[in-house]
Amino acid sequence: MAEHSATPARPSAFDAHHPPSQKIIDTCVHCGFCLPVCPTYVLWNEEMDSPRGRIYLIKMASEGKAAINPQWVGHFDTCLGCMACMTACPSGVDYGKLIEATRAQIERKPVRSFVDKLYRRFIFATFTNPARLRTLRWPLIAYQRSGLQTLLRRSGVLKLLPKRVQAMESLLPKLRHRELIPEITSARGVRRRRVGLLLGCVQREMLPQMNSATVRVLAAEGFEVVAPAAQPCCGALFVHAGEEADAIVLAKRTIDAFEQAEVDTIVTNAAGCGSNLKEYGHLLRDNPEYAARARAFSAKCKDVSELLAELEPQARRQPFRARVAYQDACHLQHAQGVRAQPRSLLAQIPGLELVEIPEAAICCGSAGIYNLVQPDAANALGERKAGLIEELQPDFVATGNPGCLMQLKSALAKAGSVTRVVHTIEILDASLRGETPEFLRRD
Ligand code: SF4
Ligand code: SF4
Repeated sequence: MAEHSATPARPSAFDAHHPPSQKIIDTCVHCGFCLPVCPTYVLWNEEMDSPRGRIYLIKMASEGKAAINPQWVGHFDTCLGCMACMTACPSGVDYGKLIEATRAQIERKPVRSFVDKLYRRFIFATFTNPARLRTLRWPLIAYQRSGLQTLLRRSGVLKLLPKRVQAMESLLPKLRHRELIPEITSARGVRRRRVGLLLGCVQREMLPQMNSATVRVLAAEGFEVVAPAAQPCCGALFVHAGEEADAIVLAKRTIDAFEQAEVDTIVTNAAGCGSNLKEYGHLLRDNPEYAARARAFSAKCKDVSELLAELEPQARRQPFRARVAYQDACHLQHAQGVRAQPRSLLAQIPGLELVEIPEAAICCGSAGIYNLVQPDAANALGERKAGLIEELQPDFVATGNPGCLMQLKSALAKAGSVTRVVHTIEILDASLRGETPEFLRRD
């Protein structure tokens, strides 16, 4: 009888630096419960663009049965990293860790074209650097206020531009004057806690009303707010795109800045930034100097809605008579499990009617830099979400992330809607100040 020798194991397609965890891969029992909430599966009905299919692709690569080539990478580039699959998964598969490790592996391989690499570098160099965003403000304000933007949009000439450039133009919010946040804002009344505020990049330079409203609400609720001037970008865009080395540099600088501020809690009003801050312990797990500090830092981080909802309200809520649809940001609802808190803050406001948007688990198409690199899929998801919102006829959509805010604004504008999109904290701020809904409609 002929003897059969065992087939030698093929080498993994991943390198040895934190490859996707075999333990997590093996947790997937292929049940498919995650498929109906996966935005790309909903759009295309393709197994390899579902969470189950992507986990299978990771398994194949880790067993050396699939190569990391452009076709394989394409299935991960289309993933929004929205983590809806994690919420739906009954087996507790930590897809977030898998996609993060997979993306870091992809970025270390020579699989991207020169143009793709250049475009991604441009996005990172711009949107993770508040100083660069600031220098862009004046030309962009001139573009908007001179009437050129209106003229170009009406003429249809923008449609001649590459889709990625069109996406960037359509997402641009109406720019207002900068609102500088003081390094220290005193609590009103008795001080309940000293908190640090992450200023973010896009909200600092493009949506300054978000940070101003956050500081006013926190101060009114008895928090002393420290906004360290030395804080950099938190690195969320980098980490979610697999750019690990850049993410680590910014995480260390962020920790340094907030340690010096000596605060009890670190607050963010951006879901993507918040989920990143809460994962610093994981990101810096190999660093002897920072690992323990990063874990301590992450344990202090909260979304502003989490912080406010855990204490009795102190400031009086005044009526705000409007119909408000709340849109869950994926990095708040799926990555951080924060769903009830923003709703409970809105429900405290007299006169406010809170309505739920169907398909709440499904992403609006924003997803960090996704709408800038995958404009077709992002537009399809934005259009779908805008249609569902329009059926509700709300006065406002409230959400907890600047990226979602810009994506929804753009999608609703394309649908011809007059519904305004604001951050949840802006509505609470308007209520505390006794402002009417018309105040928030201004631009
Ligand atoms: S993160 Fe979102 S897009 Fe990616 S597989 Fe999970 S549900 Fe699908
Ligand atoms: S729900 Fe969880 S276990 Fe089931 S296929 Fe999706 S990831 Fe795998």
